[in-house]
Amino acid sequence: MVGTSSVEVKCTKCGNVYEAQVIDHVDMSQDFETAKALKTGKVNRTQCSKCKKVMFLDRGVVINFEPDPLIVVFDPSAKSSGAQAELKQSYDNIVRFNETLQEVGEEVQFKVVTDLEQLKGLIDEYVKKYK
Ligand SMILES: [Zn+2]
Repeated sequence: MVGTSSVEVKCTKCGNVYEAQVIDHVDMSQDFETAKALKTGKVNRTQCSKCKKVMFLDRGVVINFEPDPLIVVFDPSAKSSGAQAELKQSYDNIVRFNETLQEVGEEVQFKVVTDLEQLKGLIDEYVKKYK
């Protein structure tokens, strides 16, 4: 299952504000294709409805590595420890509103990954194990 939400995006080229569907939660076991796209670091691609400019949104994605007890938030912009603490906070909020995550939330390891190479490593490891 892929969790999406719609956000307002402001085009960096023409200033047009439009709504875009973004992925904020990916389940490795159920949505492997999106998981693979994560390896490129460019999963949230949007296109301006007016001038057609393509943008990649700089936002975190929650990745569930089930059946491994690991949940990763991938956010390249969260370099500081303050930003990572903030992510942990928003993760807690996501868990609170997601039944599946709520069930496993107690015993899983939560990790903030900011480095794409590190994320690739985790995905490759998972693929070797389960796919
Ligand atoms: Zn535009």
